[in-house]
Amino acid sequence: MRKPVIAGNWKMYKSVGDSVSTALDLKPLVANANHCEVIIAPVFTALKSVADRLEGSNIRVSAQDCATQKTEGALTGEVAAFMIKDAGCSHVIIGHSERRQHYSETDQIVSKKTQAALEAGLIAIVCVGETLEQRDQGKALDVVKEQVTGSLSGLTASDLARIIVAYEPVWAIGTGRTATPEQAQEMHAFIRRVFAERHSQGTADALRILYGGSVKPDNIAGLMKRTDIDGALVGGASLNAESFAKIVNYNG
Ligand code: PEP
Repeated sequence: MRKPVIAGNWKMYKSVGDSVSTALDLKPLVANANHCEVIIAPVFTALKSVADRLEGSNIRVSAQDCATQKTEGALTGEVAAFMIKDAGCSHVIIGHSERRQHYSETDQIVSKKTQAALEAGLIAIVCVGETLEQRDQGKALDVVKEQVTGSLSGLTASDLARIIVAYEPVWAIGTGRTATPEQAQEMHAFIRRVFAERHSQGTADALRILYGGSVKPDNIAGLMKRTDIDGALVGGASLNAESFAKIVNYNG
């Protein structure tokens, strides 16, 4: 049985104070959500304060990126995975399409960051997804297969147990245009098949695959009904505690 994951990506929004107050607003609203794991990903500067205030709650804290370099060093502006762990985080989002698009992150970089995250004891939420142009050209499956295999190269079976994949079609992120549950299910089942072929059926069966792209309180339930959709990575609708709590509590 795969436990669902509902993760909120706050992107570059909220001061430290706003992050803490949204996290504290969220806490009682999701306190009974035992059906899924709840994660929020504030900006770097707010991680420690939010993690400290959520200690003992059922909400885990994630960073939105980490350095490829595993140890400290002269790398201005970078934050190493072990520092994220030290700040109280359990997860890190890696290879989000905004980083692939605006900061030229390749599958090779995503793979290095993933290895750094796992070595630091974090769970890596690795994002993949095709652009609209690639989908229109009928290349969506090939693109996602290449991203999955390239981003997760060199990982052992025990590493893969600490990976969550987020399928986020670029054309659905922040656009209000969600993939239909059928489109998402097709891609999720495909990603699971890729894992089964490359690794083992057991690894594929255990893998949690989240959907991301304009998930809202009114479309989460339809997505969650699909066999291979194990949760959601939510951007815009996670910024407000009430709206994110409705998504977390999709089952009732
Ligand atoms: C995201 O940032 O990962 C995302 C899916 O954003 P949104 O929900 O706003 O489309």
